Amino acid sequence: MKIGLYLGTYFLDIKRESNTLLMGYKNVCLNCKTAFSTGMDYKEIKSSKCTKCVEAMISVSHKFKPPKKSDISGWKLVSFLIENGFRFDSANDESYKRVQYPKTLEEAKEFVRLYKAPPQE
Ligand SMILES: [Zn+2]
Repeated sequence: MKIGLYLGTYFLDIKRESNTLLMGYKNVCLNCKTAFSTGMDYKEIKSSKCTKCVEAMISVSHKFKPPKKSDISGWKLVSFLIENGFRFDSANDESYKRVQYPKTLEEAKEFVRLYKAPPQE
């Protein structure tokens, strides 16, 4: 599988990456398949609700590139990653080498299996 070349058996350093989120967020509504750029105000971000459906939005990295609304499989992939705790921050392996986010749901399943953070103790 292609993604194995990037990922090997390393474990992503998600916690370290979450410290770099100050660079800005995007808010995503999976319901409406839409994303908004947000400012840097954490309180704003946490209370953000979708202006269309009033669901709570999910904040992801500013690096997130939303698929087109019509791209159903693209949004399935996004939902799957978000549900598994991936917020499109830079992902690095143990040796701080950048790893690529998956491009398909199939790759994503492998990605999540390899890199999902274990439950916090
Ligand atoms: Zn919405």
